[in-house]
Amino acid sequence: MMSTLELSIFKEIDALQNWVNSKKGEGAQIGFVPTMGALHKGHISLIETSLAENDITISSIFVNPTQFTSSSDLKNYPKSIDKDLEMLRKAGCTTVFLPEETTMYPKKPEIKFDFATLDKTMEGEHRPGHFNGVALIVSKLFHIVSPHKAYFGQKDLQQFAIISKLVEDLHFPIKLVRCPIVREDSGLAMSSRNRLLTDEGKEKASALYKGLIYAKNLLEEKGVEEVKQAVVDFLGRQGGVYVEYLEIVETKSLKKIENIEGTNEVAICVAAYIEGIRLIDNLIIN
Ligand code: AMP
Repeated sequence: MMSTLELSIFKEIDALQNWVNSKKGEGAQIGFVPTMGALHKGHISLIETSLAENDITISSIFVNPTQFTSSSDLKNYPKSIDKDLEMLRKAGCTTVFLPEETTMYPKKPEIKFDFATLDKTMEGEHRPGHFNGVALIVSKLFHIVSPHKAYFGQKDLQQFAIISKLVEDLHFPIKLVRCPIVREDSGLAMSSRNRLLTDEGKEKASALYKGLIYAKNLLEEKGVEEVKQAVVDFLGRQGGVYVEYLEIVETKSLKKIENIEGTNEVAICVAAYIEGIRLIDNLIIN
């Protein structure tokens, strides 16, 4: 059945802030789901969780240039704004923040974030400057939208750890909610970048999840280093899967663990190239 809900699309900061303030004045609880568009069921799961927990859900679509570390990656990032808006409307999210780049970045930003050890490993190590751009845009969006709760995917586990630190250190009065990874039937984690893969590439990419499951099972009998090597070898044997890193870390501190015993929540995290497209995935194991 087609929904008859109308979308409210805000392009300007003032207009959105005035609207949010008036809704807050009426006592509304606001949930926020930031995205870069090219929406899929993973994004929609965040929207659905927010809709269930709040009176109003605001989604933003903004391909944030400062978090890209390669200009070709930014240029090729998939865009499908009309389809995205229709997906949001169908899901029941009727308020969308859709700013222009000049609205979010009227001047070249000069502020720099440093998250100590959190942004020096995994994604931070291989995409230097990426989390500076993430922290910058999330801070701006949090100030503009000022939601009560904000929803992020476990898919970007390191991003969640860094945004948690941002919220804690800067006293943003926002509760963060981490939502589980939505996967294709093949196990492939849904991602906007999957659109850039051929069917064969998607098939190959599903090996990442198989590798994570293999690692989880192997950890029951073998040590961390041995497991990491075995899984990198397993992925290497798939053909066309080029692992950039595979790490086993505590999800909050992102510290690499040497022994699974006595640790807090632990995840196996992987980044790999398939058909020249960089994908990430992870699996929480305890
Ligand atoms: P992006 O548009 O890639 O910046 O993602 C926007 C939000 O959706 C982030 O919080 C992501 O972690 C989350 N997300 C992306 N893919 C998935 C997925 N497969 N399952 C759940 N959440 C996801």
